[in-house]
Amino acid sequence: MATAGKVIKCRAAVAWEAGKPLVIEEVEVAPPQAMEVRVKILYTALCHTDVYFWEAKGQTPVFPRILGHEAGGIVESVGEGVTELVPGDHVLPVFTGECKECAHCKSEESNLCDLLRINVDRGVMIGDGQSRFTINGKPIFHFVGTSTFSEYTVIHVWCLAKINPDAPLDKVCVLSCGISTGLGATLNVAKPKKGSTVAIFGLGAVGLAAMEGAKMAGASRIIGVDLNPAKYEQAKKFGCTDFVNPKDHTKPVQEVLVEMTNGGVDSAVECTGNINAMISAFECVSDGWGVAVLVGVPHKEAVFKTQPMNFLSEKTLKGTFFGNYKPRTDLPEVVEMYMRKELDLEKFITHSVPFSQINTAFDLMLKGEGLRCVMRMEE
Ligand code: NAD
Ligand code: ZN
Repeated sequence: MATAGKVIKCRAAVAWEAGKPLVIEEVEVAPPQAMEVRVKILYTALCHTDVYFWEAKGQTPVFPRILGHEAGGIVESVGEGVTELVPGDHVLPVFTGECKECAHCKSEESNLCDLLRINVDRGVMIGDGQSRFTINGKPIFHFVGTSTFSEYTVIHVWCLAKINPDAPLDKVCVLSCGISTGLGATLNVAKPKKGSTVAIFGLGAVGLAAMEGAKMAGASRIIGVDLNPAKYEQAKKFGCTDFVNPKDHTKPVQEVLVEMTNGGVDSAVECTGNINAMISAFECVSDGWGVAVLVGVPHKEAVFKTQPMNFLSEKTLKGTFFGNYKPRTDLPEVVEMYMRKELDLEKFITHSVPFSQINTAFDLMLKGEGLRCVMRMEE
């Protein structure tokens, strides 16, 4: 390709300061170095994790930064040593990688690659500790190794899942984070049994994907919990049978759920990022066999408090990044689930805007409107 080995100038949405609207700037994107790939992003969506790191209220401020981690694109060029991808391949970037060599990659239980596991505070490439983005020579930081709010980005080869080129990138881009995370949190981690009762805390895209997983697993009762009453109508399309708004009750929501289910739910999946919801999700599961899975990204100083007797009473607490899917090994198959129509992605994509209107996507998420807003790079 004509651009290989050269700096590419393109548009990127730069977060200059915490909480200030992103600015579309012309950035220089350096060629990929050893084991790196430069990707032309075609579609990118907004996940709540981007919003936390942009607000930087409960997270380390790293600015100026190019956020974004849920996307789909095409390989433009590859750096030295890259053998598994070639220009033209269709890829989904993932915020956590897979080297296939370390103890975690070799374990069936883990997807936390020693080399490439998520690192939210690093703003540079792992190869040489430098950024590949500059504006007039001044470096702009990366985000979780993906920085997809740019027409071109540089990503470690092992943080890219090569997918079926027939898969529509404007739809499957949402599998690069939110939908796979929620689905996997239920199917791979909570593993509810057929006929069981599942509670889902937080009915955004991640929570509703977790709900989709509960439905697939054959759960017969699915209780949605959200502070926003408007979320129930939408959740019904995902199999929500009961809805609880913690604000409608004077007692803690875990007590409400335990009463509703005569002893507690079989599984709970927390997708809010709120520490109180995390504690409630754990405390509402049944003694003996109940499993709670934490998915929401907490405030960095949050502390989980519960009585140890809850553990003695045989409740289990787990957590997961990316629904325990191994990005390179498992994600192409999740894309195939969509291709075989076993998984509907359209219902998660409630908004679509040109990339230049990226701040609209932030406004929608802050207002709690819609699920995923997909931004198209080509206006
Ligand atoms: P979202 O904002 O669309 O959805 C969150 C929902 O939680 C909203 O509907 C909100 O009203 C609700 N909520 C907030 N506080 C609540 C509370 N105390 N009780 C009940 N409901 C509450 O966000 P999303 O994009 O769906 O992401 C959900 C969470 O998952 C975020 O914390 C995000 O950072 C996290 N996440 C984690 C991973 C992972 O790998 N672990 C991956 C993606 C996203
Ligand atoms: Zn995400």
